Amino acid sequence: MDCIFCKIIAGDIHCSKVYEDALFIAFLDIRPVHKGHVLIVPKKHFLNVFDTPDEEAEAIYKVAKKISGAVMKASGCDGINIVQNNNAAAGQEVFHSHLHIIHRYDNDKLRFASIHKEYDSLDEMGEMAEKVKEAL
Ligand code: AMP
Repeated sequence: MDCIFCKIIAGDIHCSKVYEDALFIAFLDIRPVHKGHVLIVPKKHFLNVFDTPDEEAEAIYKVAKKISGAVMKASGCDGINIVQNNNAAAGQEVFHSHLHIIHRYDNDKLRFASIHKEYDSLDEMGEMAEKVKEAL
C-alpha cells in the first residue's frame, strides 16, 4: 500500500521515533507547528477516526496523555493541542489515522479555529444537539 506512515512503521522510511508499544508508534512530525510536534499513529492502517476500531480509539488517548506530559516537560511549553484531522475537508493530508500532539506557548499567536459562528437562537442550538443525539 502506498502509505507513508505504513512505510515508516515497516522501517522503510526514517522517522524520529519517541515512543512505541504493541498498538502505536509516535514520531516527530517532519513539518512541525513547533519543533517537537509529535504524531501518534496506529500500527495498523486505518483511514481516520471513523475507520478506527474501538480498541485503538480507546487506547490512543492514554498514549496521547503520556506523550503530552513528556512533550510539556521536554519543551517547557505552556499548553498542548491534541488534534486529529479527519478527511480532506478537515485538513487531513495523510490518510492513515493519527493524532497530533502540538505544544503551545502563551504568546505563539497560533489559531487553529479562528472563525466562530453564533447560533441564531437557543432553539436552533437545541435542534442541532437533537440531530447529533439522534445520530448516536
Ligand atoms: P494531517 O494533515 O493530519 O494528515 O497530518 C499529516 C502530517 O504528517 C503533516 O503534519 C506532515 O508534516 C506529516 N508528515 C508527512 N510525512 C511525514 C514523514 N515522512 N515523517 C513525519 N511526518 C510526516
